[in-house]
Amino acid sequence: MNLQHNLKDSLIWLDGKFVSYNDAKVHVLTHSLHYASSVFEGVRAYNQVPFKLEEHIDRLIYSAQSLKLDLKHTKQDLITATHQVIERNNLQNCYIRPLVWRGDETVKVGGKQNSTHAMIAAWTPKHYYSSPGQQTQATPLNLTISNFIRPTPAMTDHQAKSSGNYAMLNLAKIEAQEQGFDDAVMLDINHYIAECTASNIFFIDNQSVIHTPLPVCCLNGITRQTIIDIASKLGYKVIERDISLQEIHHFSECFLTGTAAELQKVQSISNRNDKIIFKNQQISDILLQEYRIMVLKDK
Ligand code: PMP
Repeated sequence: MNLQHNLKDSLIWLDGKFVSYNDAKVHVLTHSLHYASSVFEGVRAYNQVPFKLEEHIDRLIYSAQSLKLDLKHTKQDLITATHQVIERNNLQNCYIRPLVWRGDETVKVGGKQNSTHAMIAAWTPKHYYSSPGQQTQATPLNLTISNFIRPTPAMTDHQAKSSGNYAMLNLAKIEAQEQGFDDAVMLDINHYIAECTASNIFFIDNQSVIHTPLPVCCLNGITRQTIIDIASKLGYKVIERDISLQEIHHFSECFLTGTAAELQKVQSISNRNDKIIFKNQQISDILLQEYRIMVLKDK
């Protein structure tokens, strides 16, 4: 747990009560540990205000329904609990992780009779310490194309943040890192670009038109939707469409979006012996700047 500074001293909201970090435990026979019968969210708070909290809680509830988890807490309960987690832990800028999972009564496949549990934890990763408006950008990323293919929508619900969806994403990220890359780009079954292991992907052409995959074989990320709105309001044309690997040679900029990392610029995408370098960053910089203004305004 090296990136979490205050987590071990924190209070975690567990099934409606606050417990200490050490008491927030599950049994080894927890159904979700065996069969990934769990769903989660990633929320980011700026100056104590969680950005787009309602959208995240709506998605958590949707994800829980998609796995037929019997979540007893209402949307309002979860919103209130999230605010309390921030307050009780005295957090300013933090990452918030809600999780809903099936309990340990049986380890039978299915497990519909098992209890459903929920928790919300929050902590401040090191790079959130500086004021959000002043945070510098990480070095642009070097990506590779993963050999794993994203499932079709008939195989899994990409709009649910279910733990099972992440089995392959974890592996794709580990493989990319083992090869010296920062992250992996995943393709869909038709070999169009889908997304990265925990972020959506955008490309910009020489006419300043922004292209991003349709949210069919990828999560329709909340940051993705926010960036599309910001770009459209600034007058950029944004096209959601199928994007082939061959085409990305013609793009001049590339960036990723996600709640935790906001907007991350991409320097290169490698595909075996082919390395595509993205030379420009101007529009990505403009969009990131606008995004940071928006997250601080959203009270
Ligand atoms: N795709 C995947 C697979 C993700 O895990 C995430 C992070 N939740 C995203 C995209 C970006 O989604 P959001 O902008 O809602 O954080």
